[in-house]
Amino acid sequence: MIYFDNNATTKVDPKVLEAMLPFLQEQYGNPSSVYRLGKAAAHAVARARAQLAGLLGCEPSEILFTSCGTESDNAAISAALTADPDRKHLITSKVEHSAIIKHAEALARRGYEITWLGVDQNGLIDLQELQRAIRPDTALVSLMWANNETGVLFPIAEIAEICRERQTPFHTDAVQAVGKVPIDLSRLPIQFLSLSGHKLHAPKGVAALYVNRRAKFFPFLLGGGQEGKRRGGTENTASIVALGAAAELAAEHLSEENTTVRRLRDRLEKGLLETIPGVAVNGQPRQRLPNTTSLSIEGIDSETMLLVLDQRGICCSAGSACTSGSLEPSHVLKAMGFSTERARGSLRFSLGRFNTAEEVTQALQIIPREVAKVRQLSNGVLAV
Ligand SMILES: *Cc1c(COP(=O)(O)O)cnc(C)c1O
Repeated sequence: MIYFDNNATTKVDPKVLEAMLPFLQEQYGNPSSVYRLGKAAAHAVARARAQLAGLLGCEPSEILFTSCGTESDNAAISAALTADPDRKHLITSKVEHSAIIKHAEALARRGYEITWLGVDQNGLIDLQELQRAIRPDTALVSLMWANNETGVLFPIAEIAEICRERQTPFHTDAVQAVGKVPIDLSRLPIQFLSLSGHKLHAPKGVAALYVNRRAKFFPFLLGGGQEGKRRGGTENTASIVALGAAAELAAEHLSEENTTVRRLRDRLEKGLLETIPGVAVNGQPRQRLPNTTSLSIEGIDSETMLLVLDQRGICCSAGSACTSGSLEPSHVLKAMGFSTERARGSLRFSLGRFNTAEEVTQALQIIPREVAKVRQLSNGVLAV
C-alpha cells in the first residue's frame, strides 16, 4: 500500500506508541489523584505540555489539551464570543475546514454576523479586504494557517499583525501547519491556535489549543478543574503523552519536511504533470505546504479515480475526507473560482516522512495508466 493521504490522518509513529503504552497499562492513575500513581500521570501530562510548548515556542501553561482539532476550533471561537458578549461579528474565510465553517454557520443562525472572506485563483485572501472587514464589534478573526486541500499557506504573520493593530483577537487553525512549517509563537501576536495529534503521527482523539497567556479564556467544556480550569474532563493521559512525544519528534523532523518530503512531493507532482495531459496544480505553488499537491485532471471523476487507485494500492483523496462521500464538489476549489467540473476532477496527494522514493516511482508508473483507463471508460460511457 502507498499511503499518500497524510492530510487526512497519519500513521502513529512507533516511538509515539511506545511512549504512550505504559499509560494504557500499569500507569493508569488519574492525574488529579494525590497518591504516587496519580502524581506519575500528572507528571507525564506536564512533560507532554512542555514538549508541545517546545515545538510551538510558547509557555507550557499556554497549552490546553483537547479531544480533537474540531474541539480546539470550537473552543477558540466560543472563548472569544464569551469574553466579549457585546461583540457579535466574526471574520473567517470560505476555505476553512468544516470545524470552523459549520460553527460559524450555526452562529449566523443565532444572530451573529459573519464576514466570509473570499480567495483568489491561487487560494489566497486579500489582506486589504481583511483590514476593511475588521470592526469595533469584531469578536474574532479566524483564518487557517495551511489549507488542508491545497496546502496553500495564508500569510499568518501579516494577518496577526493586522489584528494586533486593530486590537482584535486572532485564532488560527494550524492543524495542517504544525510539524510541517516552523512556528514560533513567541514572535507572533496570536491569541489562539488549534492543532490535532492525528495529523502529526500521534493517535486520533487528542489535540490542543494554544491560548495566549494574555488572552481572555472561557471554557468550552465545563466540568472539573482540569487543564488549569480551562477544560473539564479527566485528562486522556496516554494520548496526551503520545502528543507530547509526537511534538518532540516533529521538531526533530521539521527540516526533513522541507527537504526530503518536499523533494518527494515535487517529483510526484512534476512526474504527473509531465506524463498526463490536461493536469493543473490547484493553489499558489510557492506559498504551499511542502507535502501537499492538489491536481485537477481533465476528463476524470475523482470519486471513480479514488476507487481505481485503491485497487492498485494507492491511498489519496478527493478534496477533504470530511466532505468526500458526498457528491458536492470541494468548497475550497469552488471558492477559488474553479468550475464544478474542475473541482470534481481533483485529486489530493499528501505525503509524509514515512513515504519513500520507491513509492513515488511506483505511483508515477501506476497513476498515468489508470487515468488513461478512466478517461477511456468515461468517453465510452458518454458515447453510448
Ligand atoms: C483535520 C483538520 C481539522 C479537524 O481535526 P480533527 O482532530 O480531525 O477534529 C481541523 N482543521 C483542519 C485544517 C484539519 O485539517
